[in-house]
Amino acid sequence: IGIDQDTDNTDTSSVSGRIPVGIKRKRLRIVVTGGSGFVGSHLVDKLMARGDEVIVLDNFFTGRKENVVHHLGNPRFELIRHDVVQPILLEIDQIYHLACPASPVFYKYNPVKTIISFSIFSISTNVMGTLNMLGLAKRTGARLLLTSTSEVYGDPLQHPQKETYWGNVNPIGERSCYDEGKRVSETLAMDYHRGAGVEVRIARIFNTYGPRMCIDDGRVVSNFVAQAIRKLPMTVYGDGKQTRSFQYVADLVDGLVALMEGDHIGPFNLGNPGEFTMLELSEVVKEVIDPSATIEHKPNTADDPHKRKPDISKAKELLNWEPKIPLREGLPRMVSDFRNRILNEEEGKGN
Ligand code: NAD
Ligand code: UDP
Ligand code: UDP
Repeated sequence: IGIDQDTDNTDTSSVSGRIPVGIKRKRLRIVVTGGSGFVGSHLVDKLMARGDEVIVLDNFFTGRKENVVHHLGNPRFELIRHDVVQPILLEIDQIYHLACPASPVFYKYNPVKTIISFSIFSISTNVMGTLNMLGLAKRTGARLLLTSTSEVYGDPLQHPQKETYWGNVNPIGERSCYDEGKRVSETLAMDYHRGAGVEVRIARIFNTYGPRMCIDDGRVVSNFVAQAIRKLPMTVYGDGKQTRSFQYVADLVDGLVALMEGDHIGPFNLGNPGEFTMLELSEVVKEVIDPSATIEHKPNTADDPHKRKPDISKAKELLNWEPKIPLREGLPRMVSDFRNRILNEEEGKGN
């Protein structure tokens, strides 16, 4: 009674480095904000597989129920429609705080009116949402992991970027509501740590891709992959010589768990140091999806960082973590998911 079959909490991953393999540990109750989104849903899969209880808080702004539907009905899983801007009372051990309006479509391409409401939503989620989660952590004694971003480095003048770099962010630019929102959420986390003893962990995540990415959210990997599948030209912004470093989502999730379970606050860069220009990325997509795929150039957006590549020596040393899946191996793993969703969309339109 009270013990379900799939809740053997044997830690076989030994990811924490603190729990020897094969030793039973207490089942944790873990909140994942933004848990029905791209990264969050993969994290939820990992936490569920290891036998913990998971509560997802999501307002479904960009998240989708489909991403976590396979856990519905499991007594260890709860999905709550909740905007983290509002306070909430829960009894929990850990909080992975991912909720954030992260999609570039909104801050880069939308008309003026939407820009204002998106900016307010973004900043209030990063300030009030993070504040509420820190308040929850303070009251319950839970540890909170904040998913910050490489965007805190802005258009970096240091390359590759180390965690000690303070960044080069334009405070009044088109992407500032996201960059500055994340910067202030890091500030809040550190102040709650120093001022109230809350146990915090800070991850600075670099560009991540994989199955369940939003298809039309305007990020480069999802755009190129969807365009190649739809037989449309891949849209390269500017001259395509700007660089990014792309991390496969499973590597990121391993890094997030290692950070949460480890003894170091951070911030830690979590990213794959493999650096590609957008033109090189389009070549890889071509190889992997369709050798006949073409590109077209479009004007670039303002304040686009020229290059980005993580220095991950700190995470390697202190978390014993590094990514394992290079771009050429990771990209094929997202293709069938994208093909299926695009096919469903097209069938839906035909009806
Ligand atoms: P995503 O859009 O798929 O997920 C974000 C989730 O948060 C969505 O499910 C959305 O509905 C939810 N959300 C947004 N505002 C909310 C609110 N006010 N209340 C409750 N839920 C809310 O994006 P993702 O790529 O999975 O990103 C997850 C986290 O990782 C974000 O914090 C993002 O800033 C960070 N990050 C991601 C990347 C990347 O490349 N994917 C890079 C850097 C940082
Ligand atoms: N909070 C919450 N859940 C909790 C505890 C706090 O949502 O279990 C919210 C609370 O409503 C407040 C924020 O977190 O807006 C910060 O809480 P804290 O206790 O630090 O501040 P205070 O309430 O004292 O201003
Ligand atoms: N980009 C592109 N074509 C697209 C979408 C984006 O060339 O269809 C470029 C964009 O200008 C930027 C890079 O790809 O230089 C990464 O953009 P993304 O929005 O994915 O991530 P971020 O800029 O937030 O790192």
